[in-house]
Amino acid sequence: MLSPLTVSTRAEAEALDRADPLAPMREAFILPEGVIYLDGNSLGPLTHSAKARVASAVAEEWGEGLIRSWNTAGWVDLPRTIAAKIAPLIGVSSQDVIVTDSTSVNLFKVLAAALQKAREGRTVILSERGNFPTDLYIAQGVGPLYGAELRLTDDILGAIDDTVAVVMVTEVDYRTGRRHDMAEVTSRAHQVGALVIWDLAHSAGAFPVTLDAAGADFAIGCGYKYLNGGPGAPAFVWVAPRHQDATQPLSGWFGHQSPFAFEPGFRPAPGIDRFLTGTPPVLAMAALDAALDVFGAVDMTLVRQKSVALCDLMIARVDARCGGALPLASPREADRRGSQVSLHCEMGYPVMQALIAAGVIGDFRAPDILRFGFTPLYTRFVDVFDAVEVLVDILERRTWDTEAFHRRAAVT
Ligand SMILES: *Cc1c(COP(=O)(O)O)cnc(C)c1O
Repeated sequence: MLSPLTVSTRAEAEALDRADPLAPMREAFILPEGVIYLDGNSLGPLTHSAKARVASAVAEEWGEGLIRSWNTAGWVDLPRTIAAKIAPLIGVSSQDVIVTDSTSVNLFKVLAAALQKAREGRTVILSERGNFPTDLYIAQGVGPLYGAELRLTDDILGAIDDTVAVVMVTEVDYRTGRRHDMAEVTSRAHQVGALVIWDLAHSAGAFPVTLDAAGADFAIGCGYKYLNGGPGAPAFVWVAPRHQDATQPLSGWFGHQSPFAFEPGFRPAPGIDRFLTGTPPVLAMAALDAALDVFGAVDMTLVRQKSVALCDLMIARVDARCGGALPLASPREADRRGSQVSLHCEMGYPVMQALIAAGVIGDFRAPDILRFGFTPLYTRFVDVFDAVEVLVDILERRTWDTEAFHRRAAVT
């Protein structure tokens, strides 16, 4: 069996593709000709299923069904229907997860719930300095409402002590792809009486996640990255059954026990439904719902195996072809990595613009990171091989060094 670590020709990469049991899954996606897409960790591509479903949700469910579709097309159940498709990907019961709002808004809700459930007298929300900024910003917003303050560390395991109310961590670091050991961090937190919120933005759909087995308390995650739900897709929230009696402060009517009783007083719905707030965005939900059908037939163990192999191939080719010019920012050990490979590059912004212009789409993260996401359902081994050759060419010929590639766009 050929190892991705020793591939040195394009033909060998093609041999890996021929042996890949997930190769047929690529057919489910609509990928533009001539593009190598290594940014599915930021925005998953369109699936044939989502394209057809959104068209029919618009033309038939909305166009013909009008308001009747809330009942007849199952619109009102979408937060639960979609949750049932996400549950197996994150290792939980579908009763305990709901699809709603954005990751940021859901973090607001679970952080508030966790602070209520935390040990008496504990006021510290512990997170990492390198966490995705929206998570830190939300904590800075919620903390003061509950008399809590945010404490930041670079060593999460070492910083968990008995002053901590809630540990708020993202499993996979968005910059480097460094992956935490979920069971280890969770059990360390529980040893000192703290609760844990996991942000699964770069985990769900990327590899098997086992929240229940790890004994986690709360989790949130993103619909538009590895789940391919489309730009701004709704997010999900999971709460362990033992914490579902907590209330969350965005107490809108969809989280009411009986929304259509139109009572003046708020009575939270039992269970996870109380983490809903307002009317679900049906068109966005329809896209996510259909996109998730692609995962129905997929063994996530195979997804992880291929993800490791794709990342290993990327690292090996960069080692072989870039001669140390682009130091690896991700862990070299697969066990400590999510499904991305990041490289340090001082001229990262223009280099990424040149890559994108040449048809290799990754992204740039300040200050100096070239980031490439690997999505086993549609990324081929030859794509990785070719992407590195394009990168080498751009560096050798300095095609990145033009004024147009230096100009920063609003979204990087
Ligand atoms: C992508 C991402 C988010 C996105 O939050 P939105 O509310 O969808 O903008 C949040 N947290 C992390 C860690 C992310 O990677």
